[in-house]
Formats: sequence, C-alpha cells, structure tokens
Amino acid sequence: MEASSRQAAWYAKATAYRPLLPARKLSRADEVKLHRLRLGYRTLEELRDDFESRQCDHCGNLARHLLKHYLLSCPTTAQLRQQIGGPEDDEDRAALVLRRALEDLPRLLVVARSAPPLR
Ligand SMILES: [Zn+2]
Repeated sequence: MEASSRQAAWYAKATAYRPLLPARKLSRADEVKLHRLRLGYRTLEELRDDFESRQCDHCGNLARHLLKHYLLSCPTTAQLRQQIGGPEDDEDRAALVLRRALEDLPRLLVVARSAPPLR
C-alpha cells in the first residue's frame, strides 16, 4: 500500500478523526510522540525494501512491524492494553489499543515518555 494511504487508513482507525484535546498544553516532545503514534509513522528502517525485522529498543524482541509491536506486545506498554481480544487483525487491534489509550492522555504520556514510540 502506498505510504500516504496506509497512513490515512491508520489515522482513521486509531483516532476516529478526533482531535487531540489535552487538558494542558503539551510540550513539543510529547506532541511529537503522540503525533508519531496517531499518524502511524514507520521507522526509517521499515521504509527500506529489504527490511525484515529489527530489535525493539525497549525490550530487545525482534519485530517486523514496530508500531504494532509497540502497541500490542512490547512489555513496556503493557498498561495500555487492558482488554485482550478485539479485532482479529493485528493492525486493527493495534489501532484500537491506541484509540483507547488516547482517551486517557495522561496515562498514555506516562508510558510514551518512559518508552517512546520507536523511530
Ligand atoms: Zn518492545
């Protein structure tokens, strides 16, 4: 899939087009982290044709899709995943985890500050 339409699809699923409404103004660093998640950015390595997998900076596991790993299986973000189940498709499930996490921004920021989205 073309990068921009893939990102648009992720954005729709992960945000339901809801704007970020932080109670307080976010720092630039926090904004960047949330932006990466909401837009579903891939890491630079993932954009290469020969990319197969990479070790997660946080837990050391090999991951083929780093954002999905970050949201669905990285131990450092476990507290964002309270309910198991949901959609069968990994990407849909990852988007749902993020959509729920965005409803509790302070908690999401605690996690994203200690274990930032991979880049
Ligand atoms: Zn990890």
